[in-house]
Amino acid sequence: MGKPTGFKEFDRKKVPWRLPVVRINDYEEIYTEPKVDQLRQQGARCMDCGVPFCQSATGCPIENLIPEWNDLVYNNRWKEAIDRLHKTNNFPEFTGRTCPAPCEGACVLGINSPPVAIKNIENAIVDRAWAEGWIVPEPPAERTGKKVAIVGSGPSGLAAADQLNRAGHWVSVYERADRIGGLLQYGIPNMKLAKTAVQRRVDKMTAEGVRFVTNANVGQNVDPKKLFESHDAVLLACGATKPRDLPAPGREAKGVHFAMEFLTSNTKQRVHGDSLNGSFISAEGKDVIVIGGGDTGTDCIATSLRHGCRSLVNFELLPRPPIDRAPDNPWPEWPRIFRVDYGHEEAGAKFGRDPREYQILTKRFLADDHGRLRGLESVAVEWTKDSSGSWKMSEVEGSKKEWPAQLILLAMGFLGPEAYLAESLGIKLDGRSNFEAKHGQFATSIPGVFAAGDCRRGQSLVVWAINEGRGAARAIDIYLMGSSYLPAPGITLGTAVSV
Ligand SMILES: Cc1cc2nc3c(=O)[nH]c(=O)nc-3n(C[C@H](O)[C@H](O)[C@H](O)COP(=O)(O)OP(=O)(O)OC[C@H]3O[C@@H](n4cnc5c(N)ncnc54)[C@H](O)[C@@H]3O)c2cc1C
Ligand code: SF4
Repeated sequence: MGKPTGFKEFDRKKVPWRLPVVRINDYEEIYTEPKVDQLRQQGARCMDCGVPFCQSATGCPIENLIPEWNDLVYNNRWKEAIDRLHKTNNFPEFTGRTCPAPCEGACVLGINSPPVAIKNIENAIVDRAWAEGWIVPEPPAERTGKKVAIVGSGPSGLAAADQLNRAGHWVSVYERADRIGGLLQYGIPNMKLAKTAVQRRVDKMTAEGVRFVTNANVGQNVDPKKLFESHDAVLLACGATKPRDLPAPGREAKGVHFAMEFLTSNTKQRVHGDSLNGSFISAEGKDVIVIGGGDTGTDCIATSLRHGCRSLVNFELLPRPPIDRAPDNPWPEWPRIFRVDYGHEEAGAKFGRDPREYQILTKRFLADDHGRLRGLESVAVEWTKDSSGSWKMSEVEGSKKEWPAQLILLAMGFLGPEAYLAESLGIKLDGRSNFEAKHGQFATSIPGVFAAGDCRRGQSLVVWAINEGRGAARAIDIYLMGSSYLPAPGITLGTAVSV
């Protein structure tokens, strides 16, 4: 604990984002350069609690050693800080930029004052480490001769590949897209996570011996059986990529798209400069409706603004969350409260109001005589509890409303991995159509085939994908070698455990 009185002396201060009116004119990251003194003060606020809830199960899912690196930052020992951070997190620049920071929701200081700005400190440690040249390729000293295939290159596949490579196995990552990174590449926009930051890790892993194969769609242009025969183990890390549709009348109107179609085409053309042969989806000059909230909805809002949309609304089915924690949502749980994310802030700056409309249900999409989208009809809904205590939704009479729209983006979540891979493998699914495998073991119904990340747990977070990738790597190492020194969340660092 760097400064025992720090939590009494200093207030919480976050690293500010760039001004919304400026940043909506480009696709660069929204962050500003952090001030070192401010970060050190945040480090000084950490109380080094006897039970650090921030790094326990209700806090950081990868058990980052938060009080330790808070202290190291306060004492200006940045090189040691990145070494501690890398013990539990393969990619702190991904979480430092994208994580909703459940650690801060569980920070003990948060019981009666604002928590330590943990995520800012994490991000600053890793950015400094890259800038100083402290992060360099470290290939394993020895190879085991075992070969592992990983299907999917999102954060779970990348974390598993990094860990398995460190253990000396030959790792090949098969990705159906044209670039590596999964949703780090084609979901989360450049404004939130620069694609150069993703590529930098991919380059480092390549230099360490990991093999990346793009345009390799396992179950379509890559035969899974051949993949199994040529490798000693296979990890499925292919995400939950089946989008939830909204099958209301008029859904076929030209101008209704899934969020991922919109976001992917934007990153390809506006960030990478790819030519899309007319398939780019533009919001320029259009009235845009984003249906669904969460990170995906926010990213659609922020991207539409950068295209120069004419107007913007965001529909949410549920009521607006409370400003403060509700009684049934106590510390150290993740606070389910009203938040203003970067896209909401930008929409407020451009149009003078928050774009979110709560308790709205889409009844039908409206098209013109040529089948082109011209709007949407909605009703307001009410939520009440029935006699068994379950929430029930009902339509509010007389609340029908028409909204103009030439572009509607569906951001209503995902329904597990796509069926073709499961079908081609004959793998068992769970009740939510994810690959069935127990967390901690990650073994599927086929011996030697493991599953991790969103394809196993359902749509989640980058930090959970890293948790699962690390855990699956350890399980695979044990499967291949009989025991493992690979650390994983919930396992004491460096412990060898055999099955
Ligand atoms: C728009 C959007 C924004 C988000 N923002 C955030 C955020 O800000 N913070 C956060 O924590 N989380 C966010 N998330 C969630 C987070 O990105 C995911 O939870 C995480 O990426 C899941 O990682 P994964 O490795 O399991 O799968 P993914 O990242 O989905 O990667 C799976 C990869 O597998 C590939 N694949 C699928 N099938 C095959 C096949 N048959 N053969 C070969 N390759 C295949 C896919 O092309 C994909 O590249 C966001 C999600 C979306 C959609
Ligand atoms: S990964 Fe997320 S939960 Fe863990 S320390 Fe970083 S911001 Fe907090």
